[in-house]
Amino acid sequence: MSESPLHRSFALLGSTGSVGVSTLALVERFPDRFRAVALAAGRNMAVLAEQARRHAPDLVSVADAVSAADFRARVPEFAGRILVGPEGPLAVATHPEADLVVSALVGALGLVPTLAAVHAGKHVALANKEVLVVAGELVTRAAREKGVALLPVDSEHNAIFQALRGHDRAEVRRLVLTASGGPFLAHPAADLVNVTVAEALNHPTWKMGPKITIDSATLMNKGLEVIEARWLFDVDADHIDVVIHPQSIVHSMVEYIDGSVLAQMAVPDMTIPIGYALAYPARLPLDYLRPLDLPTAGTLTFVAPDRQRFPCLDLAYRALRAGGTMPAVLNAANEVAVERFLAEDLAYREIPALVSAVMDAHEPAPASSLDVLLAADGWARDAARRGDGRVEGRVAAQR
Ligand code: MG
Repeated sequence: MSESPLHRSFALLGSTGSVGVSTLALVERFPDRFRAVALAAGRNMAVLAEQARRHAPDLVSVADAVSAADFRARVPEFAGRILVGPEGPLAVATHPEADLVVSALVGALGLVPTLAAVHAGKHVALANKEVLVVAGELVTRAAREKGVALLPVDSEHNAIFQALRGHDRAEVRRLVLTASGGPFLAHPAADLVNVTVAEALNHPTWKMGPKITIDSATLMNKGLEVIEARWLFDVDADHIDVVIHPQSIVHSMVEYIDGSVLAQMAVPDMTIPIGYALAYPARLPLDYLRPLDLPTAGTLTFVAPDRQRFPCLDLAYRALRAGGTMPAVLNAANEVAVERFLAEDLAYREIPALVSAVMDAHEPAPASSLDVLLAADGWARDAARRGDGRVEGRVAAQR
């Protein structure tokens, strides 16, 4: 990206989620540099109404007609367009005035509009890791063909993106993703039998939405991030490692062929990676944030992940090595397993068992098109809704 960061118009998919709210709070500090031209939300009209008042976008997209009526009642003076249903996120992602699309929907839901943004030639600040888990090959190929940048917002990938900048990719030996370890890092395995939803939602270092917080507790989040890193940085599974770092100060590292390791460190605040992606290649003066003070941070510790207690990590490596439609199946089964856990329909320890069983029943096909990937996603969701950790038979991916 070479255009000036001094004036950037952007569209935001997922404006009322954790990253969406942080993005708009950040750009309010830099009104001369950024303008939000289109916002896609779901049903949280209280937050969207306030965002529309403050940012006056040309377009908002909401889930349904009830939400649209609610929005109109809350912001009668709104002069822009209001779209309802699945065309809304597509119109937001392809808004003609946006140079950049912030992709911050949660789950595979963000895939179609994010791919539409790439096809429309928009640079993408990517917070929605499931886009690359499900369709990494398709999305990165489309981005190369269109000459658009995929700018990682996920803090680990943003750290690696920073540590790679100005270096020769051929000199990279491996990528090391750090993981906080989530709330159950120090729990003995026996305790994980009776984990409650509230305990799993209590993340020690990051404030995030419920889906990613549960994924952090199971380490599936880190597994999804390994797959995300594979596509963002074109490094294979054998050269991506994970280390547990409970303080969340070192956000990830790149090891080079001479043994040098470059890490990016900062206080755990998503404003920093969001700002880096929005203003790239410039850096924003974020002097209102608490700086990193290492004596206050104290001891930084690193341990290998316990792969027996957290089997989701190896499920993700297994899906990545199987390739094709398998990562889409892993992701879809996990999304349903997490929904079922949050609804108290599945025990915490059954999340990896269910995902593994759905993967066992899937015969991966090449990731040849979006339709093939979405069919595998749909099949895996059905299997995970029916399943109790034991899915019968092997079912080939639908075409
Ligand atoms: Mg992350």
